[in-house]
Amino acid sequence: MVTNMPNFYQPEIETASREKILEIQNEKIVKQVRHVYENVKYYRDLMDKKGVTPDDIKSVDDIKKLPFLSKDDLREAYPYGLLGTDLKNCVRIQSTSGTTGRRVVAFYTQADIDMWEECCARAIVAAGGTNEDVCHVCYGYGLFTGGPGLNGGSHKVGCLTLPMSSGNTERQIQFMMDLGSTILCCTPSYAAYIGETLAEMGYKPEDNKLKAGIFGAEPWTEEMRRSIEKSLGIKAYDIYGLTETSGPGVSFECSEQTGMHINEDHFYAEIIDPDTGETLPEGEKGELVFTSLDKEAFPLLRYRTRDICVLTRNKCSCGRTHVKMSKPMGRSDDMMIIRGVNVFPSQIEAVLLKTGYTPNYQIIVDRVNNTDTLDINVELNPEQFSDKLSIIQEMEKKLEHEMRTMLGIGSKVHLVAPKSIVRSEGKAVRVIDKRKLID
Ligand code: ADP
Ligand code: ZN
Repeated sequence: MVTNMPNFYQPEIETASREKILEIQNEKIVKQVRHVYENVKYYRDLMDKKGVTPDDIKSVDDIKKLPFLSKDDLREAYPYGLLGTDLKNCVRIQSTSGTTGRRVVAFYTQADIDMWEECCARAIVAAGGTNEDVCHVCYGYGLFTGGPGLNGGSHKVGCLTLPMSSGNTERQIQFMMDLGSTILCCTPSYAAYIGETLAEMGYKPEDNKLKAGIFGAEPWTEEMRRSIEKSLGIKAYDIYGLTETSGPGVSFECSEQTGMHINEDHFYAEIIDPDTGETLPEGEKGELVFTSLDKEAFPLLRYRTRDICVLTRNKCSCGRTHVKMSKPMGRSDDMMIIRGVNVFPSQIEAVLLKTGYTPNYQIIVDRVNNTDTLDINVELNPEQFSDKLSIIQEMEKKLEHEMRTMLGIGSKVHLVAPKSIVRSEGKAVRVIDKRKLID
């Protein structure tokens, strides 16, 4: 007998009234703070230092009284310092990709894994997934949370799951075409590469059966979204998460594509001023801070993500009521300060895609004679390529002008030959800051 897997959707939680969500959060936070205080010495010490006890936390409004945790705390407490339960209750570890320094190791009980996979299942459903879908997961598997998270979510929805992991793009495409993948899960930079490879192999966007993509784990622009949607013939949905809070699925996009609903029954979100630590009102841009409301093994309270975004509570056409976060356009530590001006790689990407260039680029920052320099290598596609130097120089000049308008500072653009910039199969490395190598 074949078991009929239910389609996974939780309207009683996802469309609950504000009062109901607050009721859930208030009940959970009281228990969670007690759990952490009793089991995590590292955080208990921070609370004691601040003079806060679990009795002071009666609702999520009191979260402001709690101390922050930062990535430095996680490094200091590595590996077991923030564990909230006996190791014998843990069934898994995952680890950060180490994009910005030493890796962080997170622990999970079985209940933590179930909660995480449920969040990913909600994301797949929001992208139109049902048990009739073929869900092609080419986020990396292993320590990285992308593969295991979406894999688990896909199982919960009842999709036929293709645990491809990343790399071997030709094999990805062969399975995609032979098995009729309908949902693609990977980083946006890898999705762009798959689109490019499909075209090179002579496929048109309508030749594949894909209908949706669930892309995240790195910043990407609206321009990049449109470019991927066109090359693959799909609707592209954003998904966000970090190892420290469990992995992808902390928030996800719905059909409206105007920000990601945060799973508020599991994660309480705040926006703070990154300099003063002060909580900012909804609608203001700042650093995102998460409190996990029910995690057992790695229960972080007020964790500073360093991701910069905005929270909004506008009514959403999908019916979900959970608060939405805007696409984080880079972490506070992705931000480059060049000749005193703040520059995000995503601004450069937006200019490139708006002016018809490929999303294959690399940013090189250096310091020459005490002045910061900004060089942008941009790959041409074969149609743009010309062996006439004057034509290339003219194009470079034009692009430099566009960049100056967007960034407010000058840069040197180098148009390079098709295929000369390495493609990413996971998180793309966009910036080489040579100044950091010297310091
Ligand atoms: P690492 O910190 O080593 O990259 P993770 O794999 O846990 O480790 O990555 C989490 C980070 O990835 C987030 O803090 C955020 O900066 C980035 N990220 C994840 N999803 C998105 C997304 N949809 N848009 C932008 N950035 C994202
Ligand atoms: Zn929605």
